Amino acid sequence: MNIKKKYYNIEWFDKNFYIDNLGNLNILINKKKKIKINNLINNKNKNKLPIKFCFPQIINKRIKLINIKFKIYIKKYKYNGKYFFVYPTKVNQQPYIIKYITKYNKYNIGLESGSKAELMNILINTKNKIKILCNGYKDITYIHLAYIATKIGHKVFIIIEKFKEIKYILKYIKNKNFELGIRIKLNYLEINQNKNKSQFKFGLTSTQLIKIIKILKKKKIEKKIKILHCHIGSQINKINYICKYLKEFIRIYIDIFKLFNIKIKFLDIGGGLAVNYNNIKNKNYNIDIYISNILKLIIDMCKKKNISTPNIITESGRYITAHHEFLITNIINTEINNFKKIKNPYNNKYINKNKKTIIEIWNIWNNIKKKSFSIKIIKKKLNKIKQKFQNGKYNIYEKSWIEKIYINILIYIKKNKKIKNNNNFLYNINSYISNKVHLNFSLFQSIPDNWGIKQIFPILPIEKLNNKIFKNINILDITCDSDGKIDKYINKNYISNTLKILKYNINNPPKIGFFMIGAYQNILSNIHNLFGNVETYIINIIKKNKFKIKLLNKHENILNIIKKIKINKKEINIFFNKYKKNIYIYKNIKKILNNKTYLN
Ligand code: PLP
Repeated sequence: MNIKKKYYNIEWFDKNFYIDNLGNLNILINKKKKIKINNLINNKNKNKLPIKFCFPQIINKRIKLINIKFKIYIKKYKYNGKYFFVYPTKVNQQPYIIKYITKYNKYNIGLESGSKAELMNILINTKNKIKILCNGYKDITYIHLAYIATKIGHKVFIIIEKFKEIKYILKYIKNKNFELGIRIKLNYLEINQNKNKSQFKFGLTSTQLIKIIKILKKKKIEKKIKILHCHIGSQINKINYICKYLKEFIRIYIDIFKLFNIKIKFLDIGGGLAVNYNNIKNKNYNIDIYISNILKLIIDMCKKKNISTPNIITESGRYITAHHEFLITNIINTEINNFKKIKNPYNNKYINKNKKTIIEIWNIWNNIKKKSFSIKIIKKKLNKIKQKFQNGKYNIYEKSWIEKIYINILIYIKKNKKIKNNNNFLYNINSYISNKVHLNFSLFQSIPDNWGIKQIFPILPIEKLNNKIFKNINILDITCDSDGKIDKYINKNYISNTLKILKYNINNPPKIGFFMIGAYQNILSNIHNLFGNVETYIINIIKKNKFKIKLLNKHENILNIIKKIKINKKEINIFFNKYKKNIYIYKNIKKILNNKTYLN
């Protein structure tokens, strides 16, 4: 059997990565443009891990894919309307992405902003005239800035989210490049049983929608409404969930035409197109099913009411950006949990062999191969010893001796599956006895969604993936926070509390990659424990194993990061002045302040 297929099913990378015959992970733009990830970490960068790599070409590839797929299905179903992609900048606002997307703009892509600052980011980083959709809560300044964007030459659509926005909008409405959209609050009448999915946050209820349309009609500006918008949520795994809400949405589109005689030009169905963070089949559709369901639904519903179909906009963020960024870091320490050598208590002067629990545990361990036993009893005994230790009745040698036996028993159970009908216990043993691997990264800086919403990201060594011997590990970061560890991992086709990784020589451990971190992680990342940005490079692959590399940002140094907690320059200078005469302190601290926040 092909070992790399057996253990490393990387289907979830959606054809953006592959493992070559030598077991190296490669990134793939197309047949000619591919690169071994290890090649990116050349000698120059070797000591600078962790490093983040960004591949705008992957963004391009995915934008192209979604546009081509819509084109194919529009033709297939004879859909009367066009498709436009709008990039929701909130998913990853970095200027290089905005610049990259809008540079050639072959697909007439628009950009979406959710705040004044996001709109400003768009204005600064786009050279060409584009469509801008202004979402989010709006005050008078946001709308004013949107109006200024029309003066620069962009076409702006103010998507009304809240009723009171209308009063700010009227001031600028006469401008021909200043258009309107309306965001709809779906499932308003639904009381959701699922605690995690509360009612939709944004948009107008049907009552507010009717009221706004009447106001606009009265002022004879109702034709300014060009977009009807909804956003169901992010990472929606089930196509029937998407269709259920779209039905409600399309009905509103139809009624706006039938009852108010307003033909809305664009139906903007927002984001939500899910990606495969794993290959566990919880996502029940692919891009083809997504598009064909949307088109068929609109065609079907519009046909029944004899109304023409609108142009379609989608705002898929995660689907476009998730794959294009990954982080590579190094293992800095491995705590191995192997069988421990247990000394006979009768030969150990620190262990009192007359104590009842000591004798009992020793007997269990000695007879483990012969008898079956209850782990409950062992656990009880261990707790008793903990208590007795606290009360001063057992010494630290005795405690250590018992702990070693306990680990040995667990390893033995794991190997021999001694405990029947207790899968849960076996599952938990896994992470208890796994190797604890410390990686040079901060979970809060690099994969904050793992902490915040328990998102499981693909984690993989980038080399030697054809190795046959595996070990269970648990990953810990270098923050001093007990939450800075990863509890759930994606293995071959299941989620587990340990990661199966090739067995490695601890003096020469493999580099580890965190993949699909290009959506939301960059901007949600925080400086918890004062770990800063990691060094980031933009890569442009020219041909096989040939690439251009550009430094986006350097590792954040200590000086920079302490400034972020508002230690101002003056205070830093006062500190230095105090030690000016002590050359040793002065010189060395100055040097250390320029050190990166990660381990060297
Ligand atoms: N559009 C709007 C209005 C959003 O609020 C979001 C995300 O929050 C998106 C698009 C992007 O969603 P996704 O990344 O799931 O495609």
